[in-house]
Amino acid sequence: MLRIRDLRRVYRIGGQEVRALDGVSLEIREGEYLRIVGASGSGKSTLLNLLGGIDRPTSGGIITPIGDLTLLGRHERSRWRALHVGMVFQTFNLIPHRTALQNVELGLLFAGFERAERLRRARETLTGLGLGDRLDHRPSALSGGEQQRVALARALVKRPRILLADELTGNLDEENSASIARTFADLNRQGMTIVLVTHDHALAAADADRSARMSYGRIVWESA
Ligand code: ADP
Ligand code: MG
Repeated sequence: MLRIRDLRRVYRIGGQEVRALDGVSLEIREGEYLRIVGASGSGKSTLLNLLGGIDRPTSGGIITPIGDLTLLGRHERSRWRALHVGMVFQTFNLIPHRTALQNVELGLLFAGFERAERLRRARETLTGLGLGDRLDHRPSALSGGEQQRVALARALVKRPRILLADELTGNLDEENSASIARTFADLNRQGMTIVLVTHDHALAAADADRSARMSYGRIVWESA
């Protein structure tokens, strides 16, 4: 599904070099549930952003079913995301003046559906995540756990092959974390490939097929 080869991402800021990724190679199989932990600053978000095609590496390859992402232009990478990849960001990135329903509908904007179909799917996805009675709420009128589920719904509404989730349980209570963990395990059982970055040591440890740790821009495999 994804073959990641010697991926490097160097940030240069005022003459300083930061090696956010320092030679990451791994294969993510179709239908795999991969869990990534690691200290703050170890390169986890940088890796997810590269896999989603939001950012480009300094060197290395990311071979996907549609070709090497690192060789594709911005437009083709957006297409990769629009059609195949659901992303949930650490900070949710919801649009404040839009309702939950409108935020989720945005997840389908580039997938080529008509408005009525977009709304139908958005409603269905939110309802499936227990937010059927929150469709018209704006993010500020939702709890942290609810905002997180709206962000997850926006990622899932296009029924992506791959879900990339970045520390989305970082600031949630145990009940919400457990509910998200169950949702992820269900999605994975239905065949979705999942890459979950987490600070929460309990989260998904049992459900994941493999666990990796990032350390100074490199991947270290954790024993099962
Ligand atoms: P993590 O998600 O594991 O906390 P990140 O991938 O966000 O780590 O960051 C890895 C390293 O790259 C950190 O040292 C961070 O400061 C640096 N970094 C991340 N994004 C940028 C950026 N846009 N410009 C400069 N440095 C960055
Ligand atoms: Mg991060």
